[in-house]
Formats: sequence, structure tokens, C-alpha cells
Amino acid sequence: MEPVAQRRESCRGVILFGPPGSGKGTQAKLLVETWPVPHISTGEMLRDAIESGDSIGREVSAIVRGGGLVPDALVNLLVERRLAQPDCAAGFVLDGYPRTLEQAKVTMDLFRQRGIREVVIYLAVDYNVIIARLTGRRQCASCGALYHVAFQPPRRDGVCDFDGEALYQRDDDTEAVIRQRLVAYEEKTLPILRYFQESGRRWVEVASSTESPLWVNERIRQAVEAA
Ligand code: AMP
Repeated sequence: MEPVAQRRESCRGVILFGPPGSGKGTQAKLLVETWPVPHISTGEMLRDAIESGDSIGREVSAIVRGGGLVPDALVNLLVERRLAQPDCAAGFVLDGYPRTLEQAKVTMDLFRQRGIREVVIYLAVDYNVIIARLTGRRQCASCGALYHVAFQPPRRDGVCDFDGEALYQRDDDTEAVIRQRLVAYEEKTLPILRYFQESGRRWVEVASSTESPLWVNERIRQAVEAA
């Protein structure tokens, strides 16, 4: 695959938007293979904090495990600090953020202040596809590679193809918690699209229910190139 063209003059901030299970994590990983900028996943940051048992982790553990949303102020701070790192100067990919109207407003203010050009990608996916995708999802604890027990199984059951480490299932990938995450998406996250529309911002919608991850990746790469 051709690398995404780098441009010196300005920073491009890609926002991968869509319900849980729409492929944001998979697409972020594919995109940064040809466009070497940081992949910033707020879900990963929070899971790392929970794993390490630090004060943030203790604060958010029950919320994340129950499929709810962590308070805006905390997530906004984590992202703002991360975007101030020098490796974000040319661009970055946000996966799972912004997720509320308040987060979206903070993000747009930050982009405006820092002259960052936004590229909003909306991964549209049928809800009935989501449950099947997420309940079968497995991830390598070491390198983060993603698998699906039926659609993209590893060569050896439960073992990562790349580094031989054990695969695990996220605590919040059970059907009951997925339904709760979808409720949070409907109530808190979807209104962001209306806000983008009303404030004259545009997004690129990419159908991602049945299309292959590589096809979706190509559409995203084109949108990033064009921005
Ligand atoms: P994800 O890995 O993006 O599916 O996120 C996993 C969980 O982390 C979510 O269900 C939320 O509990 C929490 N989380 C991740 N990103 C955010 C965010 N931007 N705002 C609030 N909570 C978040």
C-alpha cells in the first residue's frame, strides 16, 4: 500500500466516529500502518489505567466494566495532554473520542486553537452486525492485534499469530454490556453528528457492515489525502 502523503504545513486530526463494533480500532491500526502518526484510543488509555491500578484506573473501573461513559472532564484532560506531545505535530488518529457533545465541543475548540484540520470519518454499521462482531472479538494482550473467533480466527486457537501471546476477551464485550454501550452511543454520542451538521462541519460516511476492512481503509485513506 502507498503511504499517505505527508504534508508539512498543517496537522490533520482524524476522528473515527461510529458505534462500538463499527471497526474504529481496526481502522485506526490499518491507517497508521501507512500514515505513521499516533493512534490515540481513549478506551485503551482507560484500560491501561485500570490494569495499572492507578488513581484514574480505580476511579473509572466500574464505569468501563458496566459499559457507561467516563466523565468528560477526565477524558478531555487525558486527550488534551496526549495531543500536546510532539509526536502529534503532523497528525493523529482519534479512536473512541469525542464521544459526547461536550467532548466534541472541547475537541473542536482545541483543533481551532492549534490550527488542526479535522477529518471526520463516520463508520456506519447495522446494529445486528455489532453484537456478533463484539461477542466474538479477541485481542492479543501483548501487541494489541485484533481477531474474531469466526470471521478472522488466529491460526492457533487463543494464540496471537504475530507473537504467540495469549488472546483475551474484553470484560465489556459480553452481550449485556454491549447493549448498555449501544444505549450510551445512542443517547450521548450520536447527537455529535447533529452538532457537526449544525455547525457546518462535514464528515465522510463509510459503510462498514459487510465491506472488508481493507476496502474501508482505502476510503479512509482517500479522505485523509483529500483533507
Ligand atoms: P472503547 O475501547 O472505545 O470501546 O471504550 C471502552 C470503554 O471506555 C467505553 O465503553 C467507555 O466506558 C470508556 N470510554 C472510552 N472512550 C471514552 C470517551 N471518549 N468518553 C467516555 N468514556 C470513554
